[in-house]
Amino acid sequence: METNKNPEDLKTNAEPPVRKNFIREIVDDDLKTNKFEGRVHTRFPPEPNGYLHIGHAKSICLNFGLARDYKGFCNLRFDDTNPSKEEQEYVDSIEHDVRWLGFDWENRLYYASDYFDQLHEYAVQLIKKGKAYVCDLNADQVREHRGTLTEPGKDSPYRNRSVEENLDLFERMRKGEFPDGSRTLRAKIDMASPNLNMRDSVMYRVLRSTHHRTGDTWCIYPMYDWAHGQSDSIERITHSICTLEFEDHRPLYDWFVEQLGIYHPQQIEFARLNITYTVMSKRKLLQLVEEKRVKGWDDPRMPTISGLRRRGFTPESIRLFADRIGISKSESTVDVALLEDCLRDDLNKRSRRVMAVLHPIKLVIENYPDGVVEELDAVNNPEDATMGSRKVPFSKVLYIEQDDFREDPPKKYFRLSPGVEVRLRYAYIIKCVGVVKDEKTGEIVELRCTYDAETRSGSPQSARKVKGTIHWVSASHALDAEVRLYDRLFKVENPGGDDWRDHINPSALEVLKQCKVEPSLSNTTLQDRYQFERLGYFCVDDDSSGGSLVFNRTVTLRDTWARIEKA
Ligand code: ATP
Ligand code: MG
Repeated sequence: METNKNPEDLKTNAEPPVRKNFIREIVDDDLKTNKFEGRVHTRFPPEPNGYLHIGHAKSICLNFGLARDYKGFCNLRFDDTNPSKEEQEYVDSIEHDVRWLGFDWENRLYYASDYFDQLHEYAVQLIKKGKAYVCDLNADQVREHRGTLTEPGKDSPYRNRSVEENLDLFERMRKGEFPDGSRTLRAKIDMASPNLNMRDSVMYRVLRSTHHRTGDTWCIYPMYDWAHGQSDSIERITHSICTLEFEDHRPLYDWFVEQLGIYHPQQIEFARLNITYTVMSKRKLLQLVEEKRVKGWDDPRMPTISGLRRRGFTPESIRLFADRIGISKSESTVDVALLEDCLRDDLNKRSRRVMAVLHPIKLVIENYPDGVVEELDAVNNPEDATMGSRKVPFSKVLYIEQDDFREDPPKKYFRLSPGVEVRLRYAYIIKCVGVVKDEKTGEIVELRCTYDAETRSGSPQSARKVKGTIHWVSASHALDAEVRLYDRLFKVENPGGDDWRDHINPSALEVLKQCKVEPSLSNTTLQDRYQFERLGYFCVDDDSSGGSLVFNRTVTLRDTWARIEKA
């Protein structure tokens, strides 16, 4: 029996050179002017409040890709400032996903929570400079005082407390003397600033919540806006790359590091990835999981990295996609067909071809001898001769796809029909000579055929040509399998708005329990990937166990969606 190569061992150097983009141009310029003493140091800073999705993959490929290509470094940093939503499970899944994508942070794994002491120290410095104050407004009142895009905000009545009072109150906040939400520490900037982020941004809140790493040490937690820029500064990040919605936060981050007089990273914003027929926010993905609309974060319908992996995506296909979509400054939505094309390009090169029948119907070759089994040669991958060939057993009773037979064929139907010949892939030319029907329902339950013994594939006489070739499996040798067919998670291109869940595609999962696959699939391992000839790319699902086989359809051979939609 052929052993399968692990696809991960088949990594090629065939990945195209990375394209230039505006961020790489900035880095090139900075290297020319020696802005960061020639250093390139990026980071990928996820909040551990959910599983990573394909949008994060874009950011991972960008940040780790820069470090790789400029011989710099990329940190993995968990931005864990919000204990109520964060969990160790998410931390573990994020590490796994980044590694699986092919990137390595080596010994540079950090947590914003590592800096809680330092951030507290920085806050005290700002208070001493008269640049931060303790405010007794609650969250609603802070919002009311904030103003709007067209109207300036109002100063908090607590804005002009003395440094001594602020130091005392902040210390008592830390010690737990005040209830949750009762007081905040705020930056003293400008309540009339046209930039809402500059209107005395909140730096700390009182929150009694156990943190996944610091436990109950703290009952005040830094806000993301306060922690993020200083974390980048502490790690001496050169290029702090983030998505466009943080463009308006940049003046605030700049203000903080300037007031503190500490190392100043350069923030650069790029457009986040959106893809058609899916949603791309952890909040929404969490909702899908919690409301059991999917089976979990790694459901193969999900755009999460774990879902894509289970669906059969390769890391190479995702990296190829990240490269093809490029990096830009303007928002756009990428057609999911582009992602699927990257996947096909990669799977076409690496996957072993096998025969599987998803909707079987029995076919008996009347003139083939009983009890004889021929072992026929089948090519493993026409794209890659090094993958060799295998033997496929052939016998009198086979299964073919129901779809490959029509009693009343339409014009240009080149598959099997009464009196018509087709070639069985790697085997003989057969002709249909009769059908057996269920007496009650009239449904066709068996096809009767004859074969032409002179036409065995590869034999000198096999030159005779017929119009159609179909796949098959030998009934007594085939293995039973369950096959799960996946389609797009949403019925509409852009499932936005409050009613986004109304657009979930109810037929995004179809389970076929009666499938038959060729016997060479008996020793598969998890996530092995195959092309089922004529049907698409499939991988072994985690639910396979103890001899029972479950496959996921990763992607069809071509983009059939457009046709289906129009039909
Ligand atoms: P979401 O909006 O999906 O909840 P997020 O931005 O809150 O994501 P983070 O954990 O903060 O998630 O993201 C970590 C990094 O990934 C950030 O630098 C963020 O800019 C980047 N990122 C998140 N979503 C996308 C996306 N769709 N496209 C590109 N980068 C993204
Ligand atoms: Mg975020």
